[in-house]
Amino acid sequence: MPLTTVGRIAELRTHLDPPRGRGETVGFVPTMGYLHDGHASLIRAARAHHDVVVTSIFVNPLQFAPDEDLDAYPRDLTGDLALAEASGCDLVFAPSTAEMYPEPILTTVTVREVSAPLEGRTRPTHFDGVATVVAKLFSIVGPCTAYFGEKDFQQLAVVRRMVEDLSIPVTVIGCPTVREADGLAMSSRNAYLSAEERAAAPVLHQALQAGRAAIDAGERDPAAVRAVMAALIEAVPLAELDYAEVVDAATFAVPDPLRGTLRLLVAARFGGARLIDNVGATVGATD
Ligand code: AMP
Repeated sequence: MPLTTVGRIAELRTHLDPPRGRGETVGFVPTMGYLHDGHASLIRAARAHHDVVVTSIFVNPLQFAPDEDLDAYPRDLTGDLALAEASGCDLVFAPSTAEMYPEPILTTVTVREVSAPLEGRTRPTHFDGVATVVAKLFSIVGPCTAYFGEKDFQQLAVVRRMVEDLSIPVTVIGCPTVREADGLAMSSRNAYLSAEERAAAPVLHQALQAGRAAIDAGERDPAAVRAVMAALIEAVPLAELDYAEVVDAATFAVPDPLRGTLRLLVAARFGGARLIDNVGATVGATD
């Protein structure tokens, strides 16, 4: 089926109601565009399991603070449509800001606790913006299975919790992070990096691997794991560390001593780009 692009909410519903009425399933991939192979992996996952695949492309102003990169955020609708089609997408929903927010929005969704640490501490309004737009997109698309990247691990946890708390009829699937050959997690924001910053940026993944290796070697002190990761990032002059943390993958609390299913997460600035990354680690029950 050739790709169809729609900009209006009503039009998208007109496209989705008939197949859903026939019992067909919908796979949905929400994005902010400037698509890369990480996004493509989500579209391919949706294609493998659903009759109709929808990708949204919307740079959501609500999730950017006034001093953040909303205006500079990279955009390339033509390239996005080509990549979406090549990855198996049927329908791209690319609304204008006026279509999504015809009035200043008075209703917001807040997912407490999960939103508070890490990204939430540095970007206090970010997850309210994410939860609100994702709730709105889920309401527009309707019952579906939605695919999110583990690249934004805390966002995935926020969305999962919102769907549970509000009984939204959407199944949320988390997909592995797609990386460049040198380990850098693919991100639309990598486009901001100078050649020197791009060469330095894989330290994020190296730090995460070193943190995981410390846990695998028996380290159970969260501060020690933090220190291993922070030291590597702080040793790179072009990197400005925001956080390096190890948390329980479900609650985002810091277990001390470390136990259970863990997530190691880092954030740092490289010039104008703020990059994040994360990996998993497990401390066995017999430990
Ligand atoms: P964004 O366009 O950055 O809002 O991302 C849209 C979706 O793609 C989110 O669910 C992201 O977690 C996911 N995503 C972004 N980068 C990657 C990546 N490198 N690997 C897998 N998923 C990703």
